[in-house]
Amino acid sequence: MSDVIVVGGGPAGLAAALALGRVHRTVLLLDAGQGRNATAGHVHNFLTRDGTPPAELRELARAELSGYPAVRIRSGTVTGVRALGKGRLQADVSGGEDRFQTDLSGNDGRSQADLSSREDRFQADLPGGGTAEARRLLLATGLADELPGPRGAEALWGRSAFHCPYCHGYECTGKRVAVLGAQPGRVRLALQLSRFAADVALCTGGEPLDAASRATLESNGVTVRCEPIARLEGTGDRLDQIVFEGGPPLAREAVFVVNITRQRSGLAAGLGCASFADGCVEVNEFGQTSVPGVYAAGDMARRATVPVPQAAVITAAASGTVAAAIIDQDLLSADFGLSNPFAQPPLKPAPHEPATHEPATHQPAASEPAPSTQAGG
Ligand SMILES: Cc1cc2nc3c(=O)[nH]c(=O)nc-3n(C[C@H](O)[C@H](O)[C@H](O)COP(=O)(O)OP(=O)(O)OC[C@H]3O[C@@H](n4cnc5c(N)ncnc54)[C@H](O)[C@@H]3O)c2cc1C
Repeated sequence: MSDVIVVGGGPAGLAAALALGRVHRTVLLLDAGQGRNATAGHVHNFLTRDGTPPAELRELARAELSGYPAVRIRSGTVTGVRALGKGRLQADVSGGEDRFQTDLSGNDGRSQADLSSREDRFQADLPGGGTAEARRLLLATGLADELPGPRGAEALWGRSAFHCPYCHGYECTGKRVAVLGAQPGRVRLALQLSRFAADVALCTGGEPLDAASRATLESNGVTVRCEPIARLEGTGDRLDQIVFEGGPPLAREAVFVVNITRQRSGLAAGLGCASFADGCVEVNEFGQTSVPGVYAAGDMARRATVPVPQAAVITAAASGTVAAAIIDQDLLSADFGLSNPFAQPPLKPAPHEPATHEPATHQPAASEPAPSTQAGG
């Protein structure tokens, strides 16, 4: 049995594995290898690694981890995780003397004598078959993006169709760019880009735009196009133009599209981790979810005080590091009979019954992105 199973080998999971390996915690990291930024040419805003291709960043991290014998990595998708052996001890004074009785609810069929530990354990279904167990579980499974349109956006995603000015705004310096949408956040993004792009257009896709927003945009040099959009046309992953259902096409080099995020994996939902309406798993400052012993880090999780995930590579890595240190402290407390300074009151209860396997459908997340306040997501 490992100390920790980490599911997800993006920046959050890899950073957690590093921090755990450095305090000799045995770690099994399981990763399906579908990072959120996989289509992007480069990672930006990661100090000392600005401009590194996403896959190369992961390879560098894996190479570093290979120097820590406590860390094992296995590639593939984890299809199920579950809590095992709730060996909670209950005082039974019915016989006139203090005895302890194991609460067998949720156990995995082992005898009462086997359940000597007060701790939960966790089991993951391994890619390719079999299972592995650990004392703590860290989920770092990330988010996935859906592009509701227009046609052609998928082929350009991460290369010339973007969502985040902090990830890709700089690469639009001096270029002709467009922002799609008519909501206040889209107007704000167009104005933000107008500070350094050569030519910015807001294309509402047939949505009406209020007069005040139009006036602000136009007085700052932003063109407004309100026709419905037929498609984005490009050469390979390079945008050439936006084609409207009426009116002339608009030549552009980059476009900021609306993206919808959802949990990449249903594992947290299956465990019964509390989540927000946007689909993000709720964690406290220490990465603890509402399920004892289950931690979450990276894009998939956020605190109640943060309105959107702070979705960026460096913040994902940082949250993985924090969760790892808290897991180590949690295990120290358990092993040495110490009080846990990081034990928190439980978060709100999960909205649904736990399931043991990854559901076929995923929860939709934020439909109105707020890129002006959200790094990376
Ligand atoms: C197009 C694009 C470009 C971006 N560019 C930047 C940028 O330049 N700079 C920046 O800071 N941020 C950028 N971001 C944001 C950045 O990608 C994320 O913030 C970051 O990847 C989050 O890291 P993570 O570890 O939480 O999740 P991810 O990187 O998404 O990694 C999650 C990992 O978990 C694995 N996984 C999921 N489910 C399972 C399962 N059931 N079993 C096993 N493994 C599983 C996935 O396969 C994946 O490898 C960009 C995002 C997008 C969409």
